[in-house]
Amino acid sequence: MNLPASLMSSLNNTKGFNKEAFETVHASGEQVVSVRINPLKWSMDNNEWSISNDQSFVSNYQTLIHHSPFTIHSTVPWSSSGYYLSERPSFTLDPFFHAGTYYVQEASSMFLEQAVKQTVDLSKALVVLDLCAAPGGKSTLLQSIISKESLLLSNEVIQTRVQILKENIIKWGSSNVLVTNNDPRDFSKLEGLFDVLVIDAPCSGSGLFRKDPDAINEWSEENVQLCSQRQQRILADAWNCLKEDGVLIYSTCSYSTEEDEDILDWIKEKFKVDGLRLKVDEEWGIDEVQSSTGVYGYRFWPYKVKGEGFFIAAFRKKEETDTVRLKIKHTQLATKQEATLAANWLQSTVGFSFIKQGQHIAAVPTQWNETIQYLMQELKVRYAGVELGTIAKNDLLPEHALAVSTILKTDAVKVDLDLNQALDYLRRNELNVSSEQKGWALAMYNNVPLGWIKLLGNRINNYYPKEWRILMR
Ligand code: SAM
Repeated sequence: MNLPASLMSSLNNTKGFNKEAFETVHASGEQVVSVRINPLKWSMDNNEWSISNDQSFVSNYQTLIHHSPFTIHSTVPWSSSGYYLSERPSFTLDPFFHAGTYYVQEASSMFLEQAVKQTVDLSKALVVLDLCAAPGGKSTLLQSIISKESLLLSNEVIQTRVQILKENIIKWGSSNVLVTNNDPRDFSKLEGLFDVLVIDAPCSGSGLFRKDPDAINEWSEENVQLCSQRQQRILADAWNCLKEDGVLIYSTCSYSTEEDEDILDWIKEKFKVDGLRLKVDEEWGIDEVQSSTGVYGYRFWPYKVKGEGFFIAAFRKKEETDTVRLKIKHTQLATKQEATLAANWLQSTVGFSFIKQGQHIAAVPTQWNETIQYLMQELKVRYAGVELGTIAKNDLLPEHALAVSTILKTDAVKVDLDLNQALDYLRRNELNVSSEQKGWALAMYNNVPLGWIKLLGNRINNYYPKEWRILMR
């Protein structure tokens, strides 16, 4: 592996940098594979992931262990639901993966959980913005740790990347979320709306060289400079939307100080903030560093931690900030009749409002329905709450999102599929299963809903989303 010489020399004085260890770990070809379990679909009970309550379809952790193609090696020490795997399986051929029961995430980035838990009171109803969110690793993590009463806005500026973000958010299954496709500058008008602002910034990507050696060819000193300027621009554009006393979490997967400690100094000089210090267990191998102005940051070197290169820091905003007034021009609420149709598909309507866009109905938390309607006016909202379905005549044609959500009624008709049948379903092939029943049913794999099928007596229609179907044989 030909590591860029100018990167290596620029790191010489960086705390924790060890040239030899750095070169060895990159030459080793070792791949660290980790996943994060979805605690909205599973819960932890006596150290085992098990059925959380009657809302969950999944029977227990043993189901995951026995039917997943992977072997869990150990826990990611800074994460409550992260696990290292013994080797990399084919996730594409695992129905549990497509059902959103876990997310494949690089272990160092799971440290976001510590940064948030140590600086934010998560028992409160919070509005959280994940500004650079695609493909959704940090957003699905945030959804797993914020309370049910909180709201996550998951934003991605690049239009072509919004699809994968939306897909991962839908599969995660919770209803307190919005996906938007906006430039950071569009958020400055949402003055003081957010309690937490996560900026996992676009960067030069040196932290991922071991995982993706092709990234080495794209690395250059000029790009580090460009990234640093872009990071400042993103921070400056979004700053206004963070509340006074709100928390900013800044992270990159770059080793370059221009994108890490220098940005912390820039933030400290430009805004009124307190840099926040995090508690880090010595055994984790994470390096605590301080920028020139004394702000704490946390560096992850792949020869010290079991994970890739990563950098993270947290700040509290200490500036007086007004709060935007939510003025709604037109209500988007569904009619009573439409809401009744939608309600037939849910375990409970308590706490939900129904929003209609065109013929599509979505369930959103009532507590946030005004905020969501306001954001629908002000931003390019691509997804809100849980999309339930389309109103056609006096019926609701259910959406895939409803099938994989955590709010679907549990007494829906179910058809159990074995592994081959489940893969056929996910490939959108014809299904060869018999059922006496007729109408909409859930295609199930080991108690986990994969999506909708329609039972027609002599055949079955497969409603797995065409654009998500697996192509691998
Ligand atoms: N947080 C994501 C996760 O954990 O899955 C990874 C985010 S990635 C490091 C940075 C993201 O920033 C990319 O999705 C990229 O498209 C987006 N981005 C690129 N240019 C941007 C800009 N000028 N403003 C905001 N976001 C940008």
